[in-house]
Amino acid sequence: MLEILWQKLLDNILPRRCRKCGQPLSTDGELCERCLNELNFIYPPYCRKCGFPLEEETSGKTLCAACLQKKRSPFRLSRSALRYDEASKNLILAFKFMDKTENARLLAAMLNVAGRDIFAAGAEVIVPVPLHYTRLLKRKYNQSALLARELGRYTGLPVDCRSLVRHKRTRPQVEFSGLERIKNVKNAFSVKHPENLVGRRVVLIDDVFTTGSTLKECALALKKAGVRSVDTLTVARVC
Ligand SMILES: [Zn+2]
Ligand SMILES: [Zn+2]
Repeated sequence: MLEILWQKLLDNILPRRCRKCGQPLSTDGELCERCLNELNFIYPPYCRKCGFPLEEETSGKTLCAACLQKKRSPFRLSRSALRYDEASKNLILAFKFMDKTENARLLAAMLNVAGRDIFAAGAEVIVPVPLHYTRLLKRKYNQSALLARELGRYTGLPVDCRSLVRHKRTRPQVEFSGLERIKNVKNAFSVKHPENLVGRRVVLIDDVFTTGSTLKECALALKKAGVRSVDTLTVARVC
């Protein structure tokens, strides 16, 4: 309570600053106009299954080419707030490595908007992509878990950061491409407490959807543990 009072008091004295570039803000919000304009939000039309942006509204087509071919996917729905580019990369990197944990709230607010189709379709529990415990010790926090917790506050959904674990220590996916990415995370995840998740609709949270290898491995582990469905919700995606 005291903390909130202090925060309010300080907000009135200190100028609020852009979360990304640090410029003082003259308007409401978390980002300055320039930083906000740099971001490429994903908006309709997009594939109603995988969320991939579609070129234009073409005669009511609502699925992308891959989903039309009915490629098997372990995900029910996938959504992302932003296109992955220099601007979104910088926003996410700042959050990941500079202890800008307060940015989690801003990014989670974006997830809350981007995930509206998922929440409307029914979601029961939020699960972040886990880090291996050695990486967690080094970095002090799991960015996906922070996002998941903040999103839990927005949505009122329970957040489970314990049941899904990364038992295999993997190299960072950025070091690999294509098939190597799939190999790197193969069988890296497992569910420690299936009883917490069995029969439930899970929303998987991560910062970036690149090839989807990591999210797919997580989804396979979750399905093996008996979850009902897996949706993915990420801040940005490569598209
Ligand atoms: Zn800014
Ligand atoms: Zn699609």
